[in-house]
This record gives sequence, C-alpha cells and structure tokens, in this order.
Amino acid sequence: MSTPQIERPPEKWIRAFRPGMVGRDRIRDLLKDGFSLVICCKDCPRMVEWTPPELADRFAGKVDLPLIELIPRLTCAGESGCGSPEIAVFPNFWPGDWRWREDAAAT
Ligand SMILES: [Zn+2]
Repeated sequence: MSTPQIERPPEKWIRAFRPGMVGRDRIRDLLKDGFSLVICCKDCPRMVEWTPPELADRFAGKVDLPLIELIPRLTCAGESGCGSPEIAVFPNFWPGDWRWREDAAAT
C-alpha cells in the first residue's frame, strides 16, 4: 500500500458519500480508465489510495467485482486505522505510468 500522493477530498464530500453513488462501476472500469480508488474513513483522517497496479494485484481474477459490493467489506483497517466500517470511496485519475494489460495477457 503506497502513501497517497493526493489530498484528502473535502470533508463534506466524505460526509455526503453513500455507497449507491458508485453506480455500476466495477474494479475493471477503474483499471481500464486508469483510476485509483481513494478510500477515506469517515471517523478519522485516514485515507488510503489503491493505485491501478495495486488494484490489479489485489483483485487479480476478481476484476468484475462491483464497487458497491466491495464497499461493505472495507473498514478503516491497518496499523493506523481506527477500525470504523464507515468509509467513503472516490475513483481518482492516477497520473502514473499505467496501461491495463489484461487483454494482452489473455491472448
Ligand atoms: Zn478511521
């Protein structure tokens, strides 16, 4: 897990987040479009960014998982986490060098 290079989104966005706001997006869509997933705890200042390479690794073979099914599994875990299940997620364009190679690997 890498240290986020980005700033935490405005607190009002985090407060306003509801899981239904992710629509039908799947992990696959983030990978395809080169987006990272920014995960913000609602109960403490913690924020984690899963970059496309990390998402590809973490969800290898499960890229069709819808974000709306992922969200209930996320908590503010880890060494500095507060353990809260109240989190908000935001897809964020990742400026790193990334091109998803799934199709190339499949052929
Ligand atoms: Zn927390």
